[in-house]
Amino acid sequence: MKAIVYHGPGNKSLDERPIPELAAPTDAIVKVTRTTICGTDLHILKGDVPTCEPGRILGHEGVGIVHRVGAAVQGLAVGDHVLISCISSCGQCDYCRRGMYSHCATGGWILGNRIDGTQAEYVRIPHAQTSLYRIPPGLDEEALVMLSDILPTGFECGVLNGKVQPGSTVAIVGAGPIGLASLLTAQFYSPAQVVMIDRDPNRLEVAQRFGATACVDASRQDPEAEVMRLTDGVGVDCAIEAVGIPATFEMCTSLVAPGGVVANVGVHGVKADLHLEKLWDRNVAITTRLVDTVSTPMLLKTVRAGRLDPGQLITHRFPLSKALDAYDTFSRAADTRALKVVIEVS
Ligand code: NAD
Ligand code: ZN
Repeated sequence: MKAIVYHGPGNKSLDERPIPELAAPTDAIVKVTRTTICGTDLHILKGDVPTCEPGRILGHEGVGIVHRVGAAVQGLAVGDHVLISCISSCGQCDYCRRGMYSHCATGGWILGNRIDGTQAEYVRIPHAQTSLYRIPPGLDEEALVMLSDILPTGFECGVLNGKVQPGSTVAIVGAGPIGLASLLTAQFYSPAQVVMIDRDPNRLEVAQRFGATACVDASRQDPEAEVMRLTDGVGVDCAIEAVGIPATFEMCTSLVAPGGVVANVGVHGVKADLHLEKLWDRNVAITTRLVDTVSTPMLLKTVRAGRLDPGQLITHRFPLSKALDAYDTFSRAADTRALKVVIEVS
């Protein structure tokens, strides 16, 4: 089968690899139909994620058809149409019993990281029973690729951890797919303001269309001054970091109002400064989270009910044979206007 393989920082290629086999009775093999590229894949390619070793098939998002199913897997059958969660979870360990699937003792974020991922014709899914979701009939599978990672991430790490409430003021730094997913799902709660901050005017335009109440172009405006102006000088109840670099984390700590939350979503590869000398008396909380995907069943319902349209994040489509072009397009988003790039596998 064809697969996109990581060969160390800066290096990837479309290689021929064997179709994966069941390795445990709790596994399933899924024939991938659609997958996509995440900002996190770009972090891997920058060398920010040392657990991902050269030789690894990339990708942790996708939908497909169950091709083989292990003897211990209940509730899934060959031919079922499934959504692949970016988080694999056994459902039984202490972390899973607490709903913290991201830290599952034998799972977590392993796909396209510690084990081969979804940017391939077939993928082995461990703990299949609790890591795959059957897709209800009639749903657009392409849009559901957005539910493997970005929608649960934007919602859980950003909106839930950030304690967005009716009337909240929210700033989201980074209007990439994740920041936009936070923007879309923050609106479940009717916040008073959602200010989007980015340096890419195209992405800010999209944010405006997706319901941002204000947009700040950080390459031309001072985000702190703008946010203070928009919030009567107090800052926001919730500042969501959706970039993954020190500057934007530090920006969030300067935007948060007393009593507020800085909800970090970005994957960070280097240390960031924490200005405790400015923060110690401000009653703020700083949260970090690896997405748990506990909200996936809820998000599926909101999509099915037409309350959420994740398909609006898709800007480009490529066949698997052109996957390297897909990476190129996604990594030059400012020029290509890419948000989510769907790879059509079969
Ligand atoms: P992305 O790279 O597409 O988007 C980042 C955005 O930040 C871009 O629009 C870029 O223009 C903007 N940006 C860059 N520098 C900026 C600056 N100085 N000021 C303002 N804006 C700036 O990435 P994405 O796919 O949206 O993902 C966002 C982050 O979330 C990444 O770090 C990704 O790895 C991370 N992530 C975290 C989890 C988790 O579980 N915590 C899961 C998935 C992704
Ligand atoms: Zn577990």
